[in-house]
Amino acid sequence: MTTENEDEQVLGAVSTALVALDELGDLATFRMPYPPAVQRTMDRLTLHCLRRDARPPSSVPGLIRWGYDRPLGLWPLVLPPDVYPEHGLLLDELSGAPTALCHEIALQAETANPFLEVSRQVKAMAALADEHDRAPEYRTLREVLADHLVLTNDGFNDVRFFASIRVLDDHLTAWYVPIGPGYEVDGEIHACAGCGGPLLPAGEDWWCEREECAIDGIVTPGARWDRDAQVLVQGDRRHRQFVAGPGRAAQRFGAELAASGVEVEHWPVSGPGDLRVTTPAGRIRSAQLVDWHSPALLGRAIAASVAGHSADSMHWVVARYRTDADPAYLRIAREHATTAMIFSEAGFTDLLHDEAGAHA
Ligand SMILES: [Zn+2]
Repeated sequence: MTTENEDEQVLGAVSTALVALDELGDLATFRMPYPPAVQRTMDRLTLHCLRRDARPPSSVPGLIRWGYDRPLGLWPLVLPPDVYPEHGLLLDELSGAPTALCHEIALQAETANPFLEVSRQVKAMAALADEHDRAPEYRTLREVLADHLVLTNDGFNDVRFFASIRVLDDHLTAWYVPIGPGYEVDGEIHACAGCGGPLLPAGEDWWCEREECAIDGIVTPGARWDRDAQVLVQGDRRHRQFVAGPGRAAQRFGAELAASGVEVEHWPVSGPGDLRVTTPAGRIRSAQLVDWHSPALLGRAIAASVAGHSADSMHWVVARYRTDADPAYLRIAREHATTAMIFSEAGFTDLLHDEAGAHA
């Protein structure tokens, strides 16, 4: 466990329960009984509230209501304020979907090493590609996952045909599943103009699960299809949030580095990180793009990952919009990690260019 006290563990269990409930699909049509793990969490929260002389939520729908109308600072929990933002919500108010923060808390509650956990499937693909000497196909597949959070069935077949993924084809097929009915509005599915991901209706507007797309509070719809198009989505929100989404940042940032004269390999089939960079001095550096709502939880996840390795050689590069929006982001992340190797995109670029300057 990476959580530190009973109150944090209760919050972790609640976040996990809300994610599990979301995965059940349409809660309006869901029938009792709730899954045993959800019921156990209800019991645990109820007991906790009674000990604190607080009134517990009366039912699972009541718990869900807490998720979207009670900021963390108002829960009957004693939480470190530098880790859990007091205005943070576990569910989005209008769409009802778990927030990015909720997924981060749930992930940390469920595993001791979040980055290891979320990368299992892509690591398995990389190992298979390595074994069959198919590094380019692995890279192509990672590009497909970063570029296409949602695909129509025809689009999926085109990708399969043109990308010629070969031995990785089963993996590609496994990532994409039919999109759920919750995304359908008047018989149509809408994608986000920003990230291409699936949009949920949110009152009169739209909600994108990627916070990057709503940085000014507004999400713009992009492509849309009617249900006959058999729309497919990368089925696992955790994968979309922690792997495919940062993959888009890795693509963009890697291209920018390459344009500035640095040699960049995207998604090396063996070895860590999203980017393997060779500096003009001939030094190889590995970079992993990360995009978390909570810099403190990110720092904890990095600490867990670093603890599993003997060499502290990974450069953790935070997606630009996060560090642009919060000047304290890097400082907080570093405080909670056991490494100083956490950079903004600009900071990592400067590091490479300073080395190049020293070498010249
Ligand atoms: Zn988006």
